[in-house]
Amino acid sequence: MGQVPPAPPRFAPPQHQRRERAAGRVLVLNATFEPINVCTVRRATVLLLKQKAEVIEHATWSLRSENTTLPRPMVIRLVSYVRVPRDAHRRKITRRAVFARDGWTCQYCGSRSNLTVDHVIPRSKGGSSEWDNIVASCAPCNRRKGDMLPEKANMIPRTTPKAPHPQVFIHVASPTIPASWKAWLPETTHEVLSSDVAEAA
Ligand SMILES: [Zn+2]
Repeated sequence: MGQVPPAPPRFAPPQHQRRERAAGRVLVLNATFEPINVCTVRRATVLLLKQKAEVIEHATWSLRSENTTLPRPMVIRLVSYVRVPRDAHRRKITRRAVFARDGWTCQYCGSRSNLTVDHVIPRSKGGSSEWDNIVASCAPCNRRKGDMLPEKANMIPRTTPKAPHPQVFIHVASPTIPASWKAWLPETTHEVLSSDVAEAA
């Protein structure tokens, strides 16, 4: 208590754990236990040593440095509440995030291959590049729709596009979800990225 934490040591996991380390990501929960982010093991270690976060889940093996041993964190929780922008509109639109939101499925025909992003209202017709005007589309559908309005092309997205749930970005940052994270992520988020997304009713 009250001690100044030492500078973070450099942890070197044993060789046989290198693969796990390479995929090493740590789920970050807010003080409220809401998942908000994904960070590197090193970043998590710094937060833990500075006592800005606590370990919620850890691996069965430890990170070792010369004079410190620390269980490899899997899920950490920030000690202080951090205000997270609710407005996902402000989050950067990337192809991966659009595909993740749309379940890696063409929003016109349901195909899962050859995905591109399509402006529902074409830019040439004044369509914006916001979340509510961009959908995942396979290349053939994208070509077929061309510069037409959705009604003219008779191609209406299956799901009305909107800004994704903030937790979509957790999946974008870490496509593989470790088992130890699952208890901390809402079910809906699992469905978003699972490879067998049921079609929206
Ligand atoms: Zn398609």
